[in-house]
Amino acid sequence: MRTIEVKTQAREELVDITARVREELVSSGVKDGICHVYVPHTTAAVTINENADPSVKEDILMALRKIVPDSLPYRHSEGNSPAHVKACLIGSSIKVIIDEGQLALGTWQGIFFCEFDGPRSRSVIIKASS
Ligand code: ZN
Repeated sequence: MRTIEVKTQAREELVDITARVREELVSSGVKDGICHVYVPHTTAAVTINENADPSVKEDILMALRKIVPDSLPYRHSEGNSPAHVKACLIGSSIKVIIDEGQLALGTWQGIFFCEFDGPRSRSVIIKASS
C-alpha cells in the first residue's frame, strides 16, 4: 500500500493524478492484477473520466453544484454538507485493471482526485495487487 499527497488549490477541483498512480504502479512491480485507488476522506472522492478536454472537469463540477445545491436546509453544523453529498455521489474508490504492467485505461481516460471542500492537503491510497 502506498499513500500519495495531493495539495488542492480551490474549494472544488478535479486533479488529474493518473501519472502519479502510474508511478506507484511501476514501483509496485505488479504486472497483472488490479490497481485500487482509495480516498480516505469524507468530502473528497476519486473518479475516472476524460482528461483530454479540461472543460469536462468544469462541466462535472458545474453539474454537481446543480444536483447538490448549497442552499438546501442542511443540518450538519460544520457547514460543508454539499461536499459530503458530492463525495457520496462520486465515491471513495476506483479500480483499474493492470495489464502487462500498465493501467488499462481508455485513450481519453484519466484518474481524477475530486476535491469538494478545499483547499487542503489530502491523501490518496494506492494498492496494486496481482
Ligand atoms: Zn463536515
